[in-house]
Amino acid sequence: PHYLMWFRRDLRLHDNTALTALCEKAATDNAQVSAVFFLTPKQWQAHDMSLVQVDHIARTLPILAKTLQDQLNITLIVHSAPSFADCIDTLTTLCQKNHISCIMANHEYEGNEIDRDEQLTKQLAKDDIEFVRWHDQCILPPQSITTNDDTMYQVFTPFYKKWRHTLDVDEIQLHDAPAIKDNHDIDLQLSKTSVNTMKEIESLCKNTVEDYQKTLQDAEALQHIDSEEQLKHARDAYPAGEKAACQQLERFIAEDINDYDVGRDVPSLNATSQLSAYLTIGTISPRLCYLQAHKAQEKLHGNDGDNEDINRWISELAWRDFYRHVLVDKPELIRHQAYKDDTDKRINWSYGDDDFQAWCTGKTGVPLVDAAMKSLNTTGFMHNRLRMVTAMFLTKDLLIDWRWGERYFMQQLIDGDFASNNGGWQWSASTGTDSAPYFRIMNPFSQGKTHDPDAIFIKTWLPELKDIPNSTLHSEEKLRNSLSKGGKFASLDYPLPMVEHKKARELAIAEFKK
Ligand code: FAD
Repeated sequence: PHYLMWFRRDLRLHDNTALTALCEKAATDNAQVSAVFFLTPKQWQAHDMSLVQVDHIARTLPILAKTLQDQLNITLIVHSAPSFADCIDTLTTLCQKNHISCIMANHEYEGNEIDRDEQLTKQLAKDDIEFVRWHDQCILPPQSITTNDDTMYQVFTPFYKKWRHTLDVDEIQLHDAPAIKDNHDIDLQLSKTSVNTMKEIESLCKNTVEDYQKTLQDAEALQHIDSEEQLKHARDAYPAGEKAACQQLERFIAEDINDYDVGRDVPSLNATSQLSAYLTIGTISPRLCYLQAHKAQEKLHGNDGDNEDINRWISELAWRDFYRHVLVDKPELIRHQAYKDDTDKRINWSYGDDDFQAWCTGKTGVPLVDAAMKSLNTTGFMHNRLRMVTAMFLTKDLLIDWRWGERYFMQQLIDGDFASNNGGWQWSASTGTDSAPYFRIMNPFSQGKTHDPDAIFIKTWLPELKDIPNSTLHSEEKLRNSLSKGGKFASLDYPLPMVEHKKARELAIAEFKK
């Protein structure tokens, strides 16, 4: 028999649930194994996938192909299929021509992905071909952490308690796929859209990124950024492949995790793990992240040790699980409905294009917000604290529909991920599960004072403000005065704050109260 591993958002060999299951089955049945990955640019664009994330996937695939071949003796076929419908057709033909009797993959939890998998299951069943999917994206699978009534938690803290308790009780095992002996390749009738040699994979991936960049340019999706600069930053910051991802985890645990509780809130420090880009495309296993953190805790404190910094980091991994569990529980979120659906009816969101453009381009006149947006546009990454500050500014100070911001983030972020991004936006807009109460609105000036007291982050991204004293940058009133006519910095090419935070806050609260 011949089996097929279908890679999606799990671009790694280590602890890959489907890959291990398939290789073990192949060993038992004495079967051959091949692997496939689909480049689906039309679908990516429909999902607002950023250029830097597409590039990250494209940089990862040749590495995945090589490690698969070297370590497991499996050939990776990379196939270009614009949309999910094309994947279904190609997989069906591939299976029929090569007598493939089983495909395995790891679950994806978004709407089009689920539809695609269900259609494929039906299609393959006609030929008696099995399509088996495994839970792999979370540390603990969706629907495994529920209340006593077997429903999904609405609030994070009790979810987290149960999640931690379950992990304490059940030891997680990392999966290790065995190599396939005497493997031979399937007949693919390779064409330009389907390749399997290293050189061809590299070249197909490179062309796909160039074409995607052009498509986005034509669609004016890159109008606010210098895409070459963003690509360069992302390539430097995120070397591709699972080895690089695991080294990043090791480095973080050796150097930064012990100061995480405080360091994580200081954008200029870069003291967080920077693993999200890898977790999003699956080049690192979330279970490995948890286990390594857990080990570090044991090393420091013994068996029943507790460490605030490490616990805090583990709780962030739990947020990632939480938002995926929420999405599985409430699949309509994928259509960008508010979690608290009454907010869609009650709140009169604004759709002012000029205000939105000022936010996108970092021209709001609020230094922390502008610096954050410039960092996103230049690097394809934004620090978590700043994601909250910018998202609150858009949805509360400007009262703009959170869906506009959600989409802009997806289009820029290297770690863009539906569940976490939607969760983060709805948290900030007070429309989501366990979100910020609507009356607790972050003041972007006080946030600057607390989290960037020396204005290091602000001045890195807005060098034109280098001569303004920090105390002025962190006070709306002082900044307004010094930038206004007759003020000390009136000649600077930097806008006045576009709204008065106090007034905007009152308006937002009134709108929510209504
Ligand atoms: P660390 O602080 O080292 O955390 C470790 C890991 O935990 C992260 O890599 C991430 O996988 C997970 N994590 C941390 N915080 C959160 C969180 N609040 N929610 C869910 N998972 C979390 N994260 C994404 O991965 N993709 C997104 O598209 C995304 N969009 C966001 C949008 C908004 C408005 C907000 C407020 C948050 C968003 N986040 C998103 C969560 C968070 O900002 C990033 O995961 C984090 O900044 C990544 O940096 P890091 O890897 O250094 O994180």
